[in-house]
Amino acid sequence: MPLQLHTTIVSLNNWLSQVKKRDASIGFVPTMGALHEGHISLIRQAKKENSVVMASIFVNPTQFNNSEDFLHYPRTEAKDRDMLSEAGCDAVFIPDVSQMYPDNEKGHWNFGLLSSVLEGYYRPGHFDGVLTIVKKLFDLVRPTRAYFGEKDFQQLAHIRRLVQVEKMAVEIVSCPTLREPGGLAMSSRNRRLKPAEYAAALHISSVLFGMKKMKEELSPAELEIWGRKELEKISGLRMEYLEIVDPSTFAPLAEWEDAPNAIALTAVYAGEVRLIDNLMLSGY
Ligand code: AMP
Repeated sequence: MPLQLHTTIVSLNNWLSQVKKRDASIGFVPTMGALHEGHISLIRQAKKENSVVMASIFVNPTQFNNSEDFLHYPRTEAKDRDMLSEAGCDAVFIPDVSQMYPDNEKGHWNFGLLSSVLEGYYRPGHFDGVLTIVKKLFDLVRPTRAYFGEKDFQQLAHIRRLVQVEKMAVEIVSCPTLREPGGLAMSSRNRRLKPAEYAAALHISSVLFGMKKMKEELSPAELEIWGRKELEKISGLRMEYLEIVDPSTFAPLAEWEDAPNAIALTAVYAGEVRLIDNLMLSGY
């Protein structure tokens, strides 16, 4: 079956009602487009676990706290559709802003510490925007399962909380971060990097992997300092944060024994491009 394209809620609903008549399970992969293999890995996982797979492509204005970032966000719709089709995705929903925000309304989500640290601190309103659009999409699609990447680890934690708080009947499936050959986490933003910025950005993941190796020798606070210093050495990179937290609460760790797991999360500018990455340092 060729990829079905829906640009309106009416057309999406018609298709969904046919699908639901067949009692099909629906795997849903929301994206902002400019697709890469990381996105496609989510589609492949969804295909393994559901009878029908649909994606969405929507560059969601309410989650951008920086209007330049929104304007420069890469848009490659024709290629995205080819990639989805090749991966065996059944349908894609590509609405315009007026379809999703008829009343220009904003969200009101706040999950305490989870929403106020790291991305929540440096991108005020970001998770509010993410949850506003994800809730709208879940309400429309009512998927059986929805797939999200661990690359956006704090986002994933927010979505799990949303589903819990709203008692939504959707299973959230998390998928591992796909990396480019040099270790850089795949991201739609990588295509904006100039060659020298790309070379500098390769150090982001190597510092995270270096931290994992050093873990036995240092306390969490010492390891954070070590990682920050390593990133600061790289010309062309500007670190925004690098922190080690408990992945289930996002509370900082004084000692490794304070939590069963620890995760290092970072946001770094390479030139004008803001990149995020993370690595589980223990557990899993
Ligand atoms: P985005 O288009 O950036 O909103 O991403 C859409 C989905 O793809 C999100 O659930 C992301 O976490 C996921 N994703 C983005 N990059 C990667 C990656 N490198 N590996 C796995 N999943 C990813």
